[in-house]
Amino acid sequence: MPFPLVPTWRAEDVNGIPADFLREQGIQLVMLDFDNTLVPYTTDVPTAEVKSWLGGLKQAGFIVCIVSNSHNSRVPEFCKKYALDCITHARKPFTKGIRQCLARYDIAPRQAILVGDQIYTDTLGGNCAGVRTVLVRSIHNHTVWLKLRHIAEKPFIYAARKRRISYEES
Ligand SMILES: [Mg+2]
Repeated sequence: MPFPLVPTWRAEDVNGIPADFLREQGIQLVMLDFDNTLVPYTTDVPTAEVKSWLGGLKQAGFIVCIVSNSHNSRVPEFCKKYALDCITHARKPFTKGIRQCLARYDIAPRQAILVGDQIYTDTLGGNCAGVRTVLVRSIHNHTVWLKLRHIAEKPFIYAARKRRISYEES
């Protein structure tokens, strides 16, 4: 396993992760963090770009499941509205929720990816579970705590500076 706090790849946001790139990597299951990855904490409404990216993944045949630490009903409500599966109370960086998701679809870790905005939960949890990880930029760090956490993440974001997904559509 590579150093567990360094993501496999980086992207500016989920739209920087093309379905064709995931297919070439042998990915079948896309696990998604929710807060600050798909929507900010302050709204439940995704942008048109995020909606279209999610729709594109499903249309391309990927299994898409939100794996969130949230205890909040807004995650299952979002999933119901946009026809997505979800696992809440995932307790990342512990791997239980991630492993539960892999088991639900009978997918090997190498065929799955976890996309999230936090090094100490998403990247660490995904790497420890043996799945590849994509770190996206947090949509909006609206509290002092989130801003401080981001500062603590900076060495690892820097370590992954050359891992940005660059993919030319063929
Ligand atoms: Mg998050």
